[in-house]
Amino acid sequence: MVNALDEHERTMGFADIALSQIKALRHSATPRNYEIWYVYATGYNAALNEIINETLSRTGGLSQSELDQLYESYLTHLKTSDRIDKVGARVVGEIDDLMAMITDALGRTASYDASLAGADQQLATATSREQFVDIIEALAHSTRQMRETNRTLEERLTLSKDEISGLQHSLEVIRAESLTDPLTGLGNRKYFDRMIETTVQTGLATSQPLSLLMFDIDHFKSFNDSYGHLTGDQVLRLVGQSLKNAIKGQDIAARYGGEEFAVVLPNTPLRQALTVADQIRRVVTARELKKKSTGEILGRVTISVGVSMLRTGDDTDTLIERADACLYAAKRNGRNRVVCESDPEYTAQTRGQVA
Ligand code: GH3
Ligand code: MG
Ligand code: MG
Repeated sequence: MVNALDEHERTMGFADIALSQIKALRHSATPRNYEIWYVYATGYNAALNEIINETLSRTGGLSQSELDQLYESYLTHLKTSDRIDKVGARVVGEIDDLMAMITDALGRTASYDASLAGADQQLATATSREQFVDIIEALAHSTRQMRETNRTLEERLTLSKDEISGLQHSLEVIRAESLTDPLTGLGNRKYFDRMIETTVQTGLATSQPLSLLMFDIDHFKSFNDSYGHLTGDQVLRLVGQSLKNAIKGQDIAARYGGEEFAVVLPNTPLRQALTVADQIRRVVTARELKKKSTGEILGRVTISVGVSMLRTGDDTDTLIERADACLYAAKRNGRNRVVCESDPEYTAQTRGQVA
């Protein structure tokens, strides 16, 4: 067991490091900044430490907007599981309270029922006025008690109803967050996996056309190496935003992995899908990138895109595999291009694989 004194020493050590970083880098000692540096001091979040170290060795400092970006990308989503635990505990607590209330109400109803049955029996044998008065008084008393019980029960149930709808809302928010990529605000891989599965099933069942676009940023590693991971993250946001702007209605956009994105276009034949893919490619390439913190012009990034279309006999995996193979062909053939299954780049490649 951890000794309380040891724990005090250990955590004070983290606090000292956090504060000295805040002082040395002249950051505001706000709770959020402090949290970043405290987590940094613990070393528990390797990805956060890596990016901080990389940025510090590159530029010697971190601006407030970079700190905000770090907080959003590396710390906010970690709180989701804590929140699930808290909401879960409140749901369990509420159910316990309701169960106790129901048990109590059942007991009171049973005793009221017993007093009614007793009164019924007594009425059958009562002869004097006094006996009738006693029976009626006892009945009036137990009825008053029952009404009081019902009133309390009703009040408590109304409170419970409000509490439960609040909890439902919290769970909805957490659920949405658990399917969202915190960096780009697009759906995450889990969201993509779920959505493509149902969309492919619907496409196969209805024989509606369905297209899948897989995107990968070109030479992104060297972009990161030249300008830093935080600037790379800004590019990921830009690509995410371009996807968001290009889709509509039932279309699905998600961050598939590190610097890879996917768009599912239900009800969309290949030709139309290619137009969307190329429009996104052009929008991304047209943007001149500027480093937020310094205004430095960083040039442009390009993206490669692979496009596949659902065929009879396909499943999710085969559809993704073909889009991926097209993406690979786009890379091999010079990048900054869109390749689909009917393009010579793809057919040459698959022929090559068979041979
Ligand atoms: P290619 O044109 O062949 O795709 O080259 P590439 O450099 O983009 O490909 P590679 O797969 O070698 O590198 C992908 C890079 O993407 C490596 C990694 O540093 C970067 N990356 C992945 N996830 C993130 C992220 O969340 N933020 C940032 N800034 N970079 C990321
Ligand atoms: Mg990649
Ligand atoms: Mg890449």
